[in-house]
Amino acid sequence: MSVIEVRDLKKSYGTVHALRGLDLDVHEGEVFGFIGPNGAGKTTAIRILLGLLHGSGGQATLFGGDVWKDASSLHKRLAYIPSEVNLWPTLTGGEVIDLLARLRGKLDTKRKSELLERFQLDPTKKCKTYSKGNRQKVAIISAFISDVELLILDEPTSGLDPLMELQFQDCISTAKKEGKTVFLSSHILSEVEKLCDRISIIKDGKIVESSSMAELRHLTRTYFTAETKRAIQANDLANIQGLFDVEIKDGKISFSTEPDTIDDALRWLSDFGVRSLTGNPPTLEELFIRHYSA
Ligand code: ATP
Repeated sequence: MSVIEVRDLKKSYGTVHALRGLDLDVHEGEVFGFIGPNGAGKTTAIRILLGLLHGSGGQATLFGGDVWKDASSLHKRLAYIPSEVNLWPTLTGGEVIDLLARLRGKLDTKRKSELLERFQLDPTKKCKTYSKGNRQKVAIISAFISDVELLILDEPTSGLDPLMELQFQDCISTAKKEGKTVFLSSHILSEVEKLCDRISIIKDGKIVESSSMAELRHLTRTYFTAETKRAIQANDLANIQGLFDVEIKDGKISFSTEPDTIDDALRWLSDFGVRSLTGNPPTLEELFIRHYSA
């Protein structure tokens, strides 16, 4: 069953065409990644799904219900984390969590303490004193505390430190095990790769690629920078295949390679005596650039 169904959705802000015929199908129980460059239309699409904005054309349904007309009943079945979390400044984090949980049903106090502990949030502080990351934690805890069928998350971890990011990933895995559907808009490729079953890439207000993560993996090259005891010369590259974006400078080499050829690349590198080595997974922007400039 499709939990989210979007057909030919359009949205213009004056002369800006933010969505130009968007199509989406998110199935029950899957973690779905919604990714795309800045300004691609992700937040606009999410705000239409939430009934916060009117589309200029096309259709959008959640659980088969119209996102605009049926908004109040649909909202009981979903939780949302916005990309910019604004909270009531004079309430404490704990009060906001209680308030949002009660709006969606009964407050599960055990679950609340578990989540406060997990995300190390002090709930007694006033929201106006929280940092961006802590405001985000309030929104995350409020979303995971509720027993809803659908989580719509718009860049939920952009302000979190790496430890908290891991906690968030754990919560998503649990939600998936519980059969919840997760719609995750994110710029963090490692997060998307780890969590999502399928993704759609949006660019200029349209979906340009939809596939399972397994199908997309061939696009993910890792970037390496190495310092070697014996300097690598340009003609040494003749002995190795599958290196891209090679740069040799000041005794260092940097290159990218695909998952299947990492092994060969490292073996080749070790012949020169490796002094230092760093490896970085590709950023989402790099993935886009490679994918679309090909
Ligand atoms: P990001 O990844 O940077 O958050 P996004 O994919 O969420 O971007 P949107 O915020 O949906 O992108 O914006 C899509 C386009 O619509 C952009 O060109 C943006 O400038 C424009 N836009 C968004 N909101 C408005 C608005 N209220 N008025 C005018 N233009 C807008």
